[in-house]
Amino acid sequence: MSAGREGGAPGWETRPYRRIAVEEAYAPRELLDEYVRMLRDEPVEIGFRSLMGYFLTSTHPQPRSVVDRLADLGEQRIADMDATGIDHQVLSLTSPGTQVLDVARARAFAELANDRITEAVRAHPTRFSGLAAVGFEDAPSAIDELDRAVGRLGLRGLIANSHIKGTYLDDPRYLPILEKTADLGVPVYLHPQTLPDDAIRPYREAGLDGAVWGFAAETGLHLLRMITSGLFDRIPGLRVVVGHLGEGLPYWLHRIDHMHAKQVAAGRYEAIKPLQQRPSEYLRTHVFLTTSGMPWEPAITFARQVVGAERVMYAMDYPYQFVGAEVEQLECLPYPEEERRAFFQTIAEDVFSLRDREDETFGAPLSEEPELRDEAR
Ligand code: MN
Repeated sequence: MSAGREGGAPGWETRPYRRIAVEEAYAPRELLDEYVRMLRDEPVEIGFRSLMGYFLTSTHPQPRSVVDRLADLGEQRIADMDATGIDHQVLSLTSPGTQVLDVARARAFAELANDRITEAVRAHPTRFSGLAAVGFEDAPSAIDELDRAVGRLGLRGLIANSHIKGTYLDDPRYLPILEKTADLGVPVYLHPQTLPDDAIRPYREAGLDGAVWGFAAETGLHLLRMITSGLFDRIPGLRVVVGHLGEGLPYWLHRIDHMHAKQVAAGRYEAIKPLQQRPSEYLRTHVFLTTSGMPWEPAITFARQVVGAERVMYAMDYPYQFVGAEVEQLECLPYPEEERRAFFQTIAEDVFSLRDREDETFGAPLSEEPELRDEAR
């Protein structure tokens, strides 16, 4: 493998910035096998059956190609990155990750995913970073795993694949986990999942429960719940990264602020209480947006206008929306070169502390043995 290839996609040495993609999915083959077993043997959520039932049992070449790429952290993935001009991926456990598993399996598969991602980062430190998975339903073990995966293995954030069996991160049971991310100084990537059983029916019957619309409805709701519940007032150091240009919320901010203020004044809902800021302000102070699946200039320009250009960064959503041509198109975004550099490189480096990673590992041999748990490998 040539040095050029390890440093980035071909030509990276002469480009004005590195291209970092921050919502790039991975799944251990063992987890996919476990999903297949659950689909066969267990009553599972409607959305899980709709999504993973499709990807894991379809014979169509398109989903099969996605699944093969999901499970790869080596040659195939790096070849795809090279072919599309992606220098660096921030890896995360694919949706729904651990969030459909029982407590014991959630913990074990989180550790397995974190170990595998760490191995890939150590094998290709210039090409990969990663986020940590946890089992959310057991907060003490989730905190231990964050200490291990972020504190000792060097992963750069927490992946949250939206709801946890119909519960949301504004639930007080998850507060210690979110406080831990703030203490560690890492962000939470709030990633889509299918809607929970008590919301999915009208989406499912119309075939709109997936990435076409249902994911955004679910994940936009999740982020808005985190805002209106006062979570960011309670944990001022909490930072959230959200894909798909904010899951629709940027377009709605004016009305959300207006209606939220009216409802606070009228005391209409128990759950709607005064906040320290208007709802829209939290997107400008605690939230970063990525372009995963939304390589569309009008929407990117609008999102930058309402939340700030310094809060909008690139993501591809590999391998689900793997369209290499988007990279060249986004090179033509009508912003000054310094802002395109921020969009592709420096915002991600700041949010996920990737410059530390480069200091540690660019060209330098790894001195530490990875602290991986044998039983999870
Ligand atoms: Mn994604």
